[in-house]
Formats: sequence, structure tokens, C-alpha cells
Amino acid sequence: MSERFFGNFTQQEPIAQDAIDAAIAVMQSGRLHRYNTAPDDPGEVALLEQDFAAMTGAHYCLAVASGGYALGCALRALGLQPGEAVLTNAFTLAPVPGAITSAGGVPLFVEVTDALVIDFDDLIAKAPRARILMLSHMRGHLCDMDRLMEICAEHGLTVIEDCAHTMGASWRGVPSGRHGAIGCYSTQTYKHMNSGEGGFLISDDPQVMARAILLSGSYMMYPRHLASPPQDAFESLKYETPNVSGRMDALRAAILRPQIPTLPDRVERWNALYRAMETGLSDVPGLRLIPRPQAEAYVGSSFQFCLPDHSPAQITAFVHACAARGVELKWFGAAEPAGFTSRHDSWRYAPPQDLPQTDKVLAGLMDLRLPLTFDIRDTQILCRIIAQELGAAPLSLG
Ligand SMILES: *Cc1c(COP(=O)(O)O)cnc(C)c1O
Repeated sequence: MSERFFGNFTQQEPIAQDAIDAAIAVMQSGRLHRYNTAPDDPGEVALLEQDFAAMTGAHYCLAVASGGYALGCALRALGLQPGEAVLTNAFTLAPVPGAITSAGGVPLFVEVTDALVIDFDDLIAKAPRARILMLSHMRGHLCDMDRLMEICAEHGLTVIEDCAHTMGASWRGVPSGRHGAIGCYSTQTYKHMNSGEGGFLISDDPQVMARAILLSGSYMMYPRHLASPPQDAFESLKYETPNVSGRMDALRAAILRPQIPTLPDRVERWNALYRAMETGLSDVPGLRLIPRPQAEAYVGSSFQFCLPDHSPAQITAFVHACAARGVELKWFGAAEPAGFTSRHDSWRYAPPQDLPQTDKVLAGLMDLRLPLTFDIRDTQILCRIIAQELGAAPLSLG
């Protein structure tokens, strides 16, 4: 009988006891709203923002209701105008074009390379048509951030980084989210910290952060923030910035705060799983691994590989065969959107765009999650099943 995998691809680790204790203390206090503070208690949200700012090295930090909210808030804080084009890489997750659209913008997709990062030639070609680049570090792959920032400086592009998959990653020692004007993060269950839902914005720009805080629904309670710009940054903005409520609450902040010091340990464990997958699949005929640049310190919370020479019918058969043995693979080339969507043509609220290079990359792109409930032995089983099922459907039969 053939080997089967019994791990659960969506099962995360439990919340640690210190985070549970902190959450219980918040519930016992009854003060769950971030501005429901007490003279001796600045509140978990303000403290969390302080800790996250310190972790990333940012001057300012704002905790919000979700990663998608953070992206929309970042665009509004930069003064996005109705109908304005926003550049973004064509391989991303639905909340990115969704945030652009919700803020009144129009996604202008940029091609991706077969290393799964933004294509600089296409970015340069499209740069004159926009003011803002929302760069999504999709599946944790960082482009050459030095070259990217040079290009954006030359073309006057302001960069918002979508770091949903790169919390804890860095490029040449600079944390992901610290290259652009604003870094946005998600603390949704499947990302690198888990509060169910949640997100962060970080920035060094006092005007941008003052606007983001007011937008998030601070009313005139913004002086209770700790990782925020000086009060005078709010003076000229407080009457004219609309409230688009999206605050984080004290309960989620209490769960998140103890997860900050333990992030490096989780990163190490994700990367051990990632490297085991890389090793296990390195010699499989017809399977191309994604190269990782030397300058990139990544967080391997998911794994991608390409089947460049397989037909759609072969890949469909392969995905089904793996699923029958308990291995859940996401195929980004599937014609019908299923589960989480990452293909530009699934988002029909955006104008249709011609992206032949991206289409070609996604046609052979496979993805699997690596939750920390998996161990190295699990990755070995996964690799054996993937290799066997690819071998069982040799290319010559296609
Ligand atoms: C999850 C995710 C987001 C949005 O995060 P939410 O907290 O779910 O709103 C944005 N971009 C990418 C690439 C994501 O994976």
C-alpha cells in the first residue's frame, strides 16, 4: 500500500500559556477597547505597538483589525485619489487588489519573474502611470530590495510593502517593511503571529502615521498612543481625516504581545522545515525549485516549486493523486479560483490586463503550507509522495 500523509496543513500551534493568561487578565479587567485605558494601564494595544516598533526598528507603529485593513489604510494615508492607478505585482493574494479597490484605486499589475518576484523591466515601463507601488512580498519571496528602491526613487514611486509573508524576514540585514514608506503586516492565523485577525502598519513618516492613526478610528484619543508621532503632527490633520474604523482590540493585542520575543525561534523552525523540503525535492526530474538570493533572510512558512514542462492535464492529475495521499497542494494555474485566490484574472473588479509572463509562471506553480505542527519527518513523507507522484506520471506520456 502506498504511503499516506496524515498531517493537517491548516493546523497551527496552540496559543502559549503566557498569552492565554494575558488575554484572561484583559477579560477580567473588562477593558477590551483600546481607548478604554486606566491611569495605571496604557492598554495592551499601545504596548503592543511599542514592542512591534522596537522589533522592526520603525519610529511609529499602528495596530489594526487586519492586514487587508492595514493596506487600505496605508493607501488612504498617502492620499490616494479616486480612480488613481496603484502598481502591484500580479502574483499576490486577493486582499491586495481588494485593498486598492476599496480605497478607490485601480490595480495596475506588474509582471513577476520565475523567481516569483516583481519584474523590474515591467515596473520601469509602467512606473510613469502611477505614484504608488504596493509591493507584495508574496509567499515570502523578496526581490532585490536595493535595486527596487533605486528604481522607485528614480521614478518618484512611494512604496508600501505588504509583509504578510515576510514578518521576521530581511534583505541585507534590513527588516522587511523597513525599505518602503510604510510596511503592512497581518497577524491572521496563517501568518507569522496568530491573533485570529489583526494587522500592523509601521512608518518613520510622522504625517503619514498621524493620518493612519486618525483614519483607524482614534477620534481625539490619539494622545494615548505610545509608538506615535508628536502631537503637533495631528494638528493640521485632525479635522480633515475621515474615521474608517479598524482598530485592534486589547484582547488580540494581549495574545500577540508575548509572540514578539518568540518570533525568531519560530522563524528558525519554519526554515528548518523549508530546507528539509528543498533537500528532499532537489533531485526530482521535471521539478524546479525557487532559488533564494544570498541577501535574503526568509521565513519559510510555505513552500513553492514549479512544474514548467507539465501540461494542465498532467498537473491536475498530479494534484489529485497527491490529495488522495493526504498532500494538499495549491496550484496557482488552475482555471477556476478555489480556496485563497492569487491570480489576477480571478479579480474581475480590476480592469483585465495582459500579463503573459506571469500567466506562464503561475501555470506551473505549486504551493504548500508548512505549519509548525509539522516536523522534519513530515517533510520527508511529503517529499517522498510528491516525488513518487511526479514519477508516476512521466512527462513522455503527456
Ligand atoms: C493574508 C494576506 C494579506 C491580508 O491579511 P489579512 O489579515 O487576512 O487581511 C495581504 N497580503 C497577503 C499576501 C496575504 O497573504
